[in-house]
Amino acid sequence: MTTQPRPVYVIGGGPGGLAAAAALRARGVRAVVIEKSDEVGASWRRHYDRLRLHTTRRLSALPGLAMPRRFGRWVSRADVVRYLEKYAEFHELEIVTGVEVTRLEPDGDGGWTLHASGGRVLTARAVVVATGFNHTPALPDWPGRDTYTGRLLHAADYRAPAPYAGQDVLVVGVGNTGAEIAVDLAEGGAARVRLAVRTAPHIVRRSTAGWPAQRTGILVRRLPVRLVDRLGALVAKASVPDLSAYGLPRPASGLYSRVREGAIPVQDVGLIDAVRAGRVEPVAALESFDGAEAVLADGSRIRPDAVIAATGYRRALEGLVGHLDGVLDERGRPRACGGRAPAQAPGLYFTGFTNPISGMFREMARDAEKIAKAVRGHLCA
Ligand SMILES: Cc1cc2nc3c(=O)[nH]c(=O)nc-3n(C[C@H](O)[C@H](O)[C@H](O)COP(=O)(O)OP(=O)(O)OC[C@H]3O[C@@H](n4cnc5c(N)ncnc54)[C@H](O)[C@@H]3O)c2cc1C
Repeated sequence: MTTQPRPVYVIGGGPGGLAAAAALRARGVRAVVIEKSDEVGASWRRHYDRLRLHTTRRLSALPGLAMPRRFGRWVSRADVVRYLEKYAEFHELEIVTGVEVTRLEPDGDGGWTLHASGGRVLTARAVVVATGFNHTPALPDWPGRDTYTGRLLHAADYRAPAPYAGQDVLVVGVGNTGAEIAVDLAEGGAARVRLAVRTAPHIVRRSTAGWPAQRTGILVRRLPVRLVDRLGALVAKASVPDLSAYGLPRPASGLYSRVREGAIPVQDVGLIDAVRAGRVEPVAALESFDGAEAVLADGSRIRPDAVIAATGYRRALEGLVGHLDGVLDERGRPRACGGRAPAQAPGLYFTGFTNPISGMFREMARDAEKIAKAVRGHLCA
C-alpha cells in the first residue's frame, strides 16, 4: 500500500464505492478503494449482454461526472462499464485491485483494522462498505436439486441466448432479471420459454409518453404507502394490459407495499408482448426436481433442457461484519446506511444496501455525499 497517513478505505469498486471515494476526495479526505477483482465495475462486466440501465442516464450519474449524451437515455451495460472506468480516471481515484477484504475489526483507537486476502492487515480511520446488494447468487435449495440431470444455472451466469437456441428453457423468478432473460431467450431463438412465477409481479412501463417510471418513483417516494398503492393500481389499469388469461394476474398486494417488502416492480422491456404472443409462457412456481423433471407448484412436471434461476442474491456481509454487535439486522442487511454509522460501530458506513423505487445509482450518488460529509465530521471529532 503506501506510507501516507491512514486513509479511509472503501471496500468495493462498483458504482457505490467509486462514488463514495470521489465524494471523499472532493472533501479533501484520502480514500483508497479496495476491489477484489482485477478491474472496477466487476458486477457490470458480468451482467448479461442485453442489459441496459432501466433508470435514465441523467438520473444515474454519480457525483462530479455526467454520463455522455451519446450513451442515450437507457445506457447499455458496456457503456456503464465505460462510464465507471472513466469515473475512476476522471476523479483520480486511488484503487487497489485483486484484494478481498475478509473481516473488519475496531482497532480500539477510533479506527478500523481490515483483514484482507494474502494475509494483509490494513488500518483505516474510517471504512465504507460498498460490496454490493447483489453480492452472492442465491440458489434455492429445491428438493432434488443436486441430482437434477438437466442443466441448472443461476441468472448471474447467463450472458446471451445463443447457447439456448432450439432449446426448451425454464426461467425461474419474475423480477426484472428473470423477465428480461425470458424475453431475451424468446427473441434469441429458444424453442420454448416458460417463466415460473410464485408471486405475480407489478409490471410498469419503463416510460409513458416520454415520462420515465423512475421519475414517478422519485415523486411518490415519500408519500403514504396506501396512497401510492392506489395510484399504482390506477396507472397499471390504464397502461398495462390484464395478462390473467396468460397466467400473469394483477398482483393482490399494492405496488409500493411490495417495494417496501423488497420487490421492485418489473419494468417492461418486452415481457408483455412476449407473453401475449405466447413466446414466454408463465407457469406455476418451481417446487422441486425429480431426475430430469422439474416439478411445479400445480403438480405438473416438465422436462426443460435448461433451468435458469433468476432467484436473486444475498448481501453476504456476515463474514465481513456479522461478528460486530448491532451492525446487521436479522435479514443480514446493515442497520444503518448512507451518512449514518451504526451506534456501536462509529466510522463504519454502508452504501448500496437499500433498493429504493427511485433507483439505486441515484441513491448511491446521494449516499456518497452524505457519507463524505459524515466521515469528515467523524475524522474531525
Ligand atoms: C441486473 C441488474 C440491473 C440493474 N439495473 C439497475 C438500473 O438500471 N438502475 C439502478 O439504479 N440500479 C440498477 N441495479 C442495482 C444497482 O445499481 C447495481 O447492482 C449496482 O452495480 C450496485 O452498485 P454497488 O457498487 O453497490 O455494487 P456492485 O456493482 O456489485 O459493486 C461491488 C463491488 O465490490 C467488490 N467486492 C465485493 N466484496 C468485496 C470484498 N470483500 N473486498 C473487496 N471487494 C469486494 C465486487 O467485486 C464489486 O466490484 C441493477 C442491478 C442488477 C443486478
